[in-house]
Amino acid sequence: MRNESQLRRGAAVMPVGIEQETDALTITWSDNRKCRYAAADLRRQCPCAQCVNEWTGERTLRPEAVADVMTLVDTEIVGRYALSFKFGDGHETGIYSFRLLRELCENQA
Ligand SMILES: [Zn+2]
Repeated sequence: MRNESQLRRGAAVMPVGIEQETDALTITWSDNRKCRYAAADLRRQCPCAQCVNEWTGERTLRPEAVADVMTLVDTEIVGRYALSFKFGDGHETGIYSFRLLRELCENQA
């Protein structure tokens, strides 16, 4: 059950639990929603300048360029607003804001 009205008001929904596995990440949010992200999916959604054109916002990383079997090597909390990951392919420049992660969570339906 997601609380749409709370989201629309822009109330800060924060991760309260982060569990890193070999090939996935599970986030428990402050509204009790739980989402599991496959490492390969996170890698494909990388928002860094190498993966997204900074001027047009267009994704330059092709999904098929990312192996389905992807590992998550490291997870770091960036300030109070984001996470950064180190992936099995060595990529580690993406900063994933909680907002983005929550969006990906919503899109999983
Ligand atoms: Zn990237």
